[in-house]
Amino acid sequence: MDSLSLSSSIRILPPQLADQIAAGEVIERPASVLKELLENALDAGASRVDVELKLGGMDAIRVTDNGFGICGQELPLAISRHATSKISRLDDLLQLQSLGFRGEALASICSVSQWEIRSCQRGEEAGYAMRYDQPGQVHEINHAAGTSIWVRKLFYNTPARRKFLRAERTEFRHCDEVFRRMALARFDVGFYFKHNARQLQRLPAANDAQARSRRVSQLCGENFLQNSLLIDFPRGDMRLWGWISKPGYSRQQTDLQYFYINGRIIRDRVINHAMRQAYNTCLGPGRHAAYVLHLELDPASVDVNVHPTKHEVRFREARLIHDFLIRSLRESLQTGDAVQSEYAPNGVMELPPGYRGQETREPPYVAHRQEALAETECFFGQIQAVLLNRFVLTQSSGTLYLIDVSRAQALMSVQDWQAACQANQLKQRPLLIPQRIALDAGQRSRYERAQDLLTHLGFDLGQAGPGEIILRAIPIWLAGFDGQRLLQALLDADIDEQQSFAVIRQQLLLQQYDFATVDLRHWLQRVSQRREQLADCWRELTQTDLQDWLRLSSSHA
Ligand code: ADP
Ligand code: MG
Repeated sequence: MDSLSLSSSIRILPPQLADQIAAGEVIERPASVLKELLENALDAGASRVDVELKLGGMDAIRVTDNGFGICGQELPLAISRHATSKISRLDDLLQLQSLGFRGEALASICSVSQWEIRSCQRGEEAGYAMRYDQPGQVHEINHAAGTSIWVRKLFYNTPARRKFLRAERTEFRHCDEVFRRMALARFDVGFYFKHNARQLQRLPAANDAQARSRRVSQLCGENFLQNSLLIDFPRGDMRLWGWISKPGYSRQQTDLQYFYINGRIIRDRVINHAMRQAYNTCLGPGRHAAYVLHLELDPASVDVNVHPTKHEVRFREARLIHDFLIRSLRESLQTGDAVQSEYAPNGVMELPPGYRGQETREPPYVAHRQEALAETECFFGQIQAVLLNRFVLTQSSGTLYLIDVSRAQALMSVQDWQAACQANQLKQRPLLIPQRIALDAGQRSRYERAQDLLTHLGFDLGQAGPGEIILRAIPIWLAGFDGQRLLQALLDADIDEQQSFAVIRQQLLLQQYDFATVDLRHWLQRVSQRREQLADCWRELTQTDLQDWLRLSSSHA
């Protein structure tokens, strides 16, 4: 035993420190905060939830709901440990309908952030607020019925934890996934999502089949929707419904597998096993099915309190559920009924004649057709129009997107070029006709000094004559841009490699990208994969935006 533990005496931890330690178990990153706040909002019976993040949730997370609210006296209780309004007896645990029940989420979150809670109970006049710098002090405010919780500067007081946070993009991705899971859990609730003041999702409550399919398309991609079967199997007091990928569609990862039991997402061995069995012969090696499935059953027949993060469950009758899943899924996969919606399958692979589901050997061509499909997956959907040689208007189900091709390409080019440069993996494209570039006196002397740098950046240059250089090849990332203009901009200042990319970025953003020879559909897929990094290159338009705009322009005419 070391001297430290010998000399120290046992003490009760101060409550704040105990909360911070406990927070480590529940609150790992912004996404965990978001999950808890969303669960609370849903538990409060909200029909609309608004999420707003800054900097991937590291700077701020705000969740606003229109649920039943918290009354003034109970505000301080809500943030104290083991305070919950959701269970009072052990029996309640076995019949759990709500998502949270441990009563420690808010206490944990509040111990590691600069928080503020504002709430107004349904039917009450006044709302109440409380914040981190004066905990316990409740003051009256105006607030619509419901609750909004701000969580700013997560882990500001626990630097060791803050260090584990990743890049904004990564933290955002986790939050985005939490949001997607919740929005797929509760179609009857409207979900709205903003990041850095940009509206990313607008999902009004989806109360009919068509609206639900639209939401699936918005969250999981139009391609998944078009390649899925809508199923619904009621059986006794159980019901299995949702979207499952057709036998011909598969994914490289298990990233599109959402399974809910009574509205709670779960990852469970029994369920996973049943799903794999059901798809058994439909999937090539290393391929995975995709699904959004809801299993509804009597809450008493499933125990969700097995695991602290509550993704695992224990079934009373696991076998029964396992077999019910397999039977329902196989039946759908064999008959292959199409999704009943306006989203008529479009370029969807049909099963080969005579295909009999699990009895058939795997059709050899399935694999490469799957690849082809995976490639065409695009968040932005189909191209509707190209405007001003610079913007594309696309549509994915009901949503329109306007994408600035030039800006997006400039940013992608710079990122890729810089990465390749750092990794010493430059690629050049020779010019069909080498270009002569006249340099002024200043540029000429800078060219002498910058030759190595320019070669390092991937330009192939030579001396052409007095005061002239010749450009023979450009880095491929400049294709579609004016390489000569860029080169001159680079020679207008004394720069090093780091600075050169700042100049390149600035210069390419000024130029107009020539995409005449570009396969725009393919291009759009690349942008769709990087849409978070390119957030300021596209925006969502509602039909109303467009209609307003048309009305506006016609009234001006
Ligand atoms: P739990 O959800 O496990 O009960 P939490 O710490 O997440 O514990 O929340 C504590 C309590 O605060 C909840 O039981 C609930 O009474 C109240 N509460 C939290 N968020 C909300 C909300 N958005 N609307 C209404 N009540 C809330
Ligand atoms: Mg909770």
